[in-house]
Amino acid sequence: MEHFDVLIIGSGLAGQSLALRLAETKRVAIVTKKSIEDSASAWAQGGIAAVLDTADSLDAHIRDTHIAGAGLCSDKATRFVVEGGRRAIQWLIDQGVPFTPDQGSDLGYHLTREGGHSHRRVIHVADATGLAVQTTLAAKVLSHPNIKVFSNHIAVDLLTGTKLGLDSKDCFGAYVLDIEKDEVRTFGAQHTVLATGGVGKVYLYTTNPDMATGDGIAMAWRAGCRVANMEFIQFHPTCLYHPHAKSFLITEAMRGEGGILRLPDGTRFMPSHDERAELAPRDIVARAIDFEMKRSGVDCVFLDMTHKSADFLIKHFPNIYASCLDLGIDITREPIPVVPAAHYLCGGIVTDLKARTDLPRLYSVGESAFTGLHGANRLASNSLLECLVFSEAAAKDILATADADLPILPDWDESRVSDADEQIVISHNWDELRRFMWDYVGIVRTTKRLQRAQHRIRLLAKEIDEYYSNFRVSNDLIELRNLVVTADLIVRSAMRRHESRGLHFSRDYPDMASQARNTVLRNPLRGA
Ligand SMILES: Cc1cc2nc3c(=O)[nH]c(=O)nc-3n(C[C@H](O)[C@H](O)[C@H](O)COP(=O)(O)OP(=O)(O)OC[C@H]3O[C@@H](n4cnc5c(N)ncnc54)[C@H](O)[C@@H]3O)c2cc1C
Repeated sequence: MEHFDVLIIGSGLAGQSLALRLAETKRVAIVTKKSIEDSASAWAQGGIAAVLDTADSLDAHIRDTHIAGAGLCSDKATRFVVEGGRRAIQWLIDQGVPFTPDQGSDLGYHLTREGGHSHRRVIHVADATGLAVQTTLAAKVLSHPNIKVFSNHIAVDLLTGTKLGLDSKDCFGAYVLDIEKDEVRTFGAQHTVLATGGVGKVYLYTTNPDMATGDGIAMAWRAGCRVANMEFIQFHPTCLYHPHAKSFLITEAMRGEGGILRLPDGTRFMPSHDERAELAPRDIVARAIDFEMKRSGVDCVFLDMTHKSADFLIKHFPNIYASCLDLGIDITREPIPVVPAAHYLCGGIVTDLKARTDLPRLYSVGESAFTGLHGANRLASNSLLECLVFSEAAAKDILATADADLPILPDWDESRVSDADEQIVISHNWDELRRFMWDYVGIVRTTKRLQRAQHRIRLLAKEIDEYYSNFRVSNDLIELRNLVVTADLIVRSAMRRHESRGLHFSRDYPDMASQARNTVLRNPLRGA
């Protein structure tokens, strides 16, 4: 049994920044599925949005966030995050993050402008911001005497008062599988934080790393927390489609530089979907590609840059040029095969402005949390900012909360399970789930498709629950169990929304309702 003041599940920006903010006075454990670097945070390219330029204003950033969120952003959460922006960036600068300088500006750092932002406000480290931030923080985390990092450890379930048969609903830690030793360990903690990131792996195509299986959301749901707005999944329109390329983004700047989207037979299709053609906003382009793929039954469409000179392409897109060439695609001579891919979850575990969930001593920060900031669609580069602002808020609340007497925590019970007999059950169900979620619960939804998905989810859930009760847990089984819960929450939320708003588009309800409402789900088996 391990005991810590704070147990943080996840080593993305949310988890690492929180650990550093607590470690002066608290003993902190970070458990993370693979290495400390393995996270969506490390893959973020663009940057972090914050009001830093004197010509910009908090009101403008708040307004832009609301417009992107299609009327569903919480005003309180939006103001809270935007107002915390400058402080959050200063904290990163103090940690040593080498933001791209701009000697010509008063700020001293370069700011870019991204879609949906009315000002230049995205601070960045060239085109690999997340990696620079994560590497800087990881060096500090790993050398901090009060932080212990458990790599190759996957949290299985939360340890709550309810689970232990106590009167209180407090969270006292979690069961965690040590993947290398293949044993489940008990982590007791005064405070537990879910910083487990997103859910991209629930879909066949995603820009997310493999670890994004919705574990934190599923654990919180099983423990009795509310989750909200799970239907709002942001799809990136152009991810490279190639059997050996995993989650490789083709930047939207390519369309900005004149890229043309074509069907396999060479037909250009965007002008018939939107007068802005390839320059339409990302959700419209993603929807058009989805429509064309489903209509003609093709596996991908193509982004054609061949009308640009080779010099131009190699100079402006050196990474994409080199990566595609490695896979045998010369983008100066042939179009790039692309598909839309699940990118970001706007919903998650319901939290307040202190990052508290419905259960005492349980927090959630980052993409796993629903704070109300993103509404029905995320404004670019607001997510890393949200991680930073809410990790500061969680740290303050944890530091201000008195310790409790921890109950005796039972060890994980393996007495009634045996070794799994057939791994094929897991891999088959994993593939099936991701494919039907893509086909039926993707970018364009209908009630009939959602019902089909729900029917399959029920069958899968039953089979996986049985498997889970009979066999020893493994990394794949834990992830699959969580993916099914996550898929179920997405489908249920989508079925409840009888309108099209932001990222949720239903052919049966194409109009936007006059009143904007969040979709909040409660677990009937575990009322919080
Ligand atoms: C390709 C890409 C580009 C992006 N670009 C930008 C951008 O430019 N700007 C922006 O603001 N946002 C961007 N985003 C979104 C942003 O990166 C994420 O929303 C953000 O990094 C989420 O941070 P997080 O700390 O919540 O989760 P993550 O960084 O995803 O970290 C989650 C952590 O939890 C761990 N974990 C999960 N489940 C378990 C478990 N059961 N047990 C133990 N550990 C677990 C994982 O191993 C990982 O360490 C981008 C996302 C992607 C995929």
